[in-house]
Amino acid sequence: MSTLLSHVSVAPHAGRAILDAASQEVIGYAPEHTVDDLNTAVAAARAAQPAWAAHSDGERCRILTAVADDIDVHAEELGRLITREQGKPGGLGEANGAAHFLRAACDTVLEAAPLADGAELRYVPLGVVASIGPWNFPVMIAVWHIAPALRMGNAVVIKPSEHTPLSVLALIDIFNRHLPPGVLTAISGDREVGAALSSHADLDKIIFTGSTATGRKIVESSARNLARLTLELGGNDAGIVLPGANVADIADRLFWGAFMNTGQVCAALKRVYVHDSVYDDLVDALAERARTTPMGPGLEPGNKLGPVQNAEQFEIVARLVDDARARGARVVAGGEPAAELGPLFYRTTIVADIDNDADLVQQEQFGPALPLVRYSDVETALELANGTDQGLGASVWGPDEEEAMRVADRLEAGTVWINRHGGLHPQVPFGGTKSSGYGLEFGVEGLKAMAATKVIRRPAG
Ligand code: NAD
Repeated sequence: MSTLLSHVSVAPHAGRAILDAASQEVIGYAPEHTVDDLNTAVAAARAAQPAWAAHSDGERCRILTAVADDIDVHAEELGRLITREQGKPGGLGEANGAAHFLRAACDTVLEAAPLADGAELRYVPLGVVASIGPWNFPVMIAVWHIAPALRMGNAVVIKPSEHTPLSVLALIDIFNRHLPPGVLTAISGDREVGAALSSHADLDKIIFTGSTATGRKIVESSARNLARLTLELGGNDAGIVLPGANVADIADRLFWGAFMNTGQVCAALKRVYVHDSVYDDLVDALAERARTTPMGPGLEPGNKLGPVQNAEQFEIVARLVDDARARGARVVAGGEPAAELGPLFYRTTIVADIDNDADLVQQEQFGPALPLVRYSDVETALELANGTDQGLGASVWGPDEEEAMRVADRLEAGTVWINRHGGLHPQVPFGGTKSSGYGLEFGVEGLKAMAATKVIRRPAG
C-alpha cells in the first residue's frame, strides 16, 4: 500500500471501495464524509482564512512552492496511484504537471491597478472557496483549483470525484504537511456530498470542473448562497480539416488531440469535419494509428492508451458507437470492447461516413471514439462545427496559416488551436463559452477569478 495513502486506507467496508481502473481490483477505501463533516470543514476554513490571508503574498508563495517541491519528491508514488485509480498511462506526467502548475500560480504577477481620479483597484481574498472536480485529471485539476485560490489568500474545501478520490486525498495530504490547519480540507463523498457542498450557505466561491448537467445544478444552488462561480464544463470540440491539408503532417497530432488520456479530456477533439479532398487519406491514417497504438494497463510499460475510467462512461462510449453503426456509419477501426485487456477497455475507434446528426457527433463521448464527417465547402463545415451548444475548444488544420486564422475567428469556442488540438499553458487563460461554462483559469485571469475587487478612493485633490 502506498505510504501516501496510509491516512485514507481504512478497514474494508468502512469506506467507499476504489477500484484500479484497469484490473477492477480494490486499491483502497476512501472515507465517506457526512454533511456534518462538511459543515466542520467549512467552519474550519472560515476560521483559518483570515490568518492565511494575513500572511504576505511572498510567504504564501514560499509555502506553496515547498508543497510543489514535496509533490516532486512523491511524484513517482503519486503518479502510480493516479495511473491505478484513473487508468492513464503517464500518471507521473500528471503528478509532474500538478507541481508545474502550482509553481506557475506563484510566478504569476497580479498587482493593484491605478485608476482615474487617483483611485486604485486592489485584489483581495474572497474567503472560502469550494472546489468540486471530475475523474479524468483528478490531481492536475485539483491543483488548478487550489493553487490560485490559496495564492490569493482564500481557504479551500475540496470535494474530489467519487471515482478518483484517493489520488486527490494523497495530494491534499502533501499540501497539509505545509499549510496551517483548516486552510485546505478534502471532503470525500459522492454527488450528494457535492450537492451539499455547492449549496452550503457559507461559501464565497465555487470552482467546478465537470459535466454541463451538474454545472447547471450548481448555478441553481448558487442562487441561495450567491457564491461566485467558475464553471469548466463539458466540451464537444470540433476540428475542421481544410482543403490541401497535409495528411502525413497532421495525422499524429490530430490522433493525439482526440485520444490523449484515451479520449477522456474535456478539450479533446471529439468530432472532425474533413474536406472531401483529403477525407479518405485522413480516415486511413487515423485508422492505422488506432489499430497500432498500444492499449493496456497503464502501469505496463509501452502502453499509450488505457481503459475508460468507469463503467458508466464505458456504457456511454459503447452506446454512441453502436448507435452510429446502426445508422449506417462505417466503423473503420475498433468499435467494440477490448475485453481481453480488462472489463473497461474499449478499442480505439474511428467512425467514418457518419451523419452530422448522429449522437456520436452531437453528444460528448468522453472516450476512445472519434467520428469524421465529410464536407465539401468550408461554410458548411463552420455551420456544423458551431451547431452544438458546447464551446470549449476547437481546431483548424491546413497549410495556409492565414486562412486557418480566418476560419478560427469564426469558430465559437473558448480556445481555438491551429494545426494542433489541446495543450494548455499555465500563463494562457483557459475557459469555455456557450454551455461549456464561464470564467477563466490560469495566468493573471485565473488569479483574478479567485479574488474580490476593492477600489480605494483617496480624498479628492
Ligand atoms: P460530473 O459532473 O458527473 O461530476 C463532477 C463532480 O461533481 C464530481 O465530484 C461529482 O461528485 C460532483 N457532483 C455531482 N452532482 C453534483 C451536484 N448536484 N452538485 C455538486 N456537485 C455534484 O462530471 P464527471 O463525469 O466527473 O467529469 C466528466 C465531465 O467533466 C465531462 O463532461 C468533461 O468534459 C468535463 N470536464 C471539463 C473540464 C473543463 O475544463 N471544462 C475538464 C475536465 C472535465
